[in-house]
Amino acid sequence: MDYEFLPFSRPSISEAAIQDVVACLKSGWITTGPRVAQFTDALKEYFNAPHVLPLMSATTGLHLALLAMHLEPGDEVITTPLTFAATLNTIVLAGGKPVLVDIDPHTLNMDLNLLEAAITHRTRVIIPVHFAGLPVDLDLLYDIAHQHGIRILEDAAHAMGSAYKGKRIGSGGDTQVFSFHPNKNMTTGEGGCVVTRDQEMADQIARLRFHGVDRQAWNRYGKSGTQDYEIVLPGYKSNMMDIQAAIGIHQLNELTGFITRRNELAKRYQEALADWPQWSLPGTPAYEHLHSWHIYTPLIQEDSARMNRDEFMQAMKEKNIGTGLHYRAVHLYPYYRQAFGFKLGDFPQAEEVCERIVSLPLFPSMTDADHDRVLDVMYTIFN
Ligand SMILES: *Cc1c(COP(=O)(O)O)cnc(C)c1O
Repeated sequence: MDYEFLPFSRPSISEAAIQDVVACLKSGWITTGPRVAQFTDALKEYFNAPHVLPLMSATTGLHLALLAMHLEPGDEVITTPLTFAATLNTIVLAGGKPVLVDIDPHTLNMDLNLLEAAITHRTRVIIPVHFAGLPVDLDLLYDIAHQHGIRILEDAAHAMGSAYKGKRIGSGGDTQVFSFHPNKNMTTGEGGCVVTRDQEMADQIARLRFHGVDRQAWNRYGKSGTQDYEIVLPGYKSNMMDIQAAIGIHQLNELTGFITRRNELAKRYQEALADWPQWSLPGTPAYEHLHSWHIYTPLIQEDSARMNRDEFMQAMKEKNIGTGLHYRAVHLYPYYRQAFGFKLGDFPQAEEVCERIVSLPLFPSMTDADHDRVLDVMYTIFN
């Protein structure tokens, strides 16, 4: 039987969201306006946070948040080698030096036991990544950071809908950045947001995302007329459009359902694959948490599978099933080797994981029949 291609991820866009995009297009106002304002308010309520700034992407969120921290040459920013390149790229773009801490091979998050050894008098910021939506041990992380007077910028691109000890990621701590890319837990096409409890950070990002415009400055100088503004710094152009927010408003309402389905599918994999010698399955920590299962990432056991990860991905593709690779170790990309002297052997746990990791199909509209098909095809490939 010939099956259609099953991607590893696919966004779920409701008919109501599509209708609202059409309404937005017909309204005459398609860039930043009332729908972004409504989305901002909905996100503030969702996170119970004082400041939420929707943007064109999470990448721009990381970049602007780091710029708002005013790094100076030689300032160090600690993160993990198991992340998307944007995490490191934005550190460099904001003038920082990336310093990496190896991962815990069980949770795939930064190994906090190794963190203190990486902290120096130049460390300004730590960027933990909630890998796959599994929350980092935030109590421990914030304790360490506070002892050293270091700020925390959570790369929460995978963690929309995740919770740590009963509290949503984004509802406390310093500053978080979420992604609304189509592969993420909810989408606006492209998009992202910064959530912060720091008024100065929020004000600075508001200026940086739109040309350096400060409407308060105009107010202070007492001019009249609502069209007037001051340019207080050379800003970027990173504002979200109403067309995007029209999708986001609906996605946010549907998020709980998406996360529930992601959890069902992940549990299905964990149970079905538990006895397969070809896989080592994702581990979870002892502390209370809600996993968003943005991706489901087992590690292939090459000897039992009698193939490596790349061969497995190719075999799946030939059977019309898509898989993902999250990620290659960032420190081994040519730029990072050349600019910062990283080399093979620097972060052995991440390097081994990156050779064996694969993202199996998982998205909210995936049916149980799709899931069975993935399991059947994998069985055929291995036996
Ligand atoms: C997707 C992702 C980003 C970037 O998100 P965009 O919205 O595509 O810019 C950053 N960090 C991590 C860990 C990601 O997975």
